[in-house]
Amino acid sequence: MSLKDNAHQLVREHLKMDRDGKAHKVPALLDELRRAVTPGHAGSAGGGMAGPPIPINPNALDLLAEIEGEARRNHYEITDTGWQSTLEELLQAFAGMDLPPEWDAYLTHVSADWIDKITALLWPSKPRRKLVGKTCPACGWATYGEERKVCLSLGCWDDEGNMRAIGTWDIECASCEASWAGEQVAYLLRALDTPGVVIVSEVAQVS
Ligand SMILES: [Zn+2]
Repeated sequence: MSLKDNAHQLVREHLKMDRDGKAHKVPALLDELRRAVTPGHAGSAGGGMAGPPIPINPNALDLLAEIEGEARRNHYEITDTGWQSTLEELLQAFAGMDLPPEWDAYLTHVSADWIDKITALLWPSKPRRKLVGKTCPACGWATYGEERKVCLSLGCWDDEGNMRAIGTWDIECASCEASWAGEQVAYLLRALDTPGVVIVSEVAQVS
């Protein structure tokens, strides 16, 4: 992705490929982030947040301030002048500038970072599924540490929070760091008396 592409995603309504392979128009990422800061945010994040609305999302506010501060600092370093307009216009100005290659590379990297951070904040990935009460066949423990954390966890979500195909799941032990992938996962789940079909139906109810 070029700096121009990144700025476009941050500032403009843009097309995003959906799981069905069709492109859909989605709002600018900075618009989404600003909406997340604002009181009474209805939750386009889809994180399943319940209860009364949180007046302000401090994480979104911090991230917005971080992006704005960094962009303005960079502009000052490049041009020796302060940027007098909005963050959105600054990012578009960056994309249109005839930048030295090292600045272009740097801003491309930084703006990709902003996209990742906004995405992670607004659409957090679902946590791994803990296999409570199941003993790790490698180390023989079901829990570890003083807090008795669960050893085994199952990775079954993709980045967008949808369940992956069962053959792509993985299991990890947080205690001994053993891991299983592919076909082994189905065998292990059966050995643990937690067949994949049961998990599929359980997570289907949750999600
Ligand atoms: Zn283990």
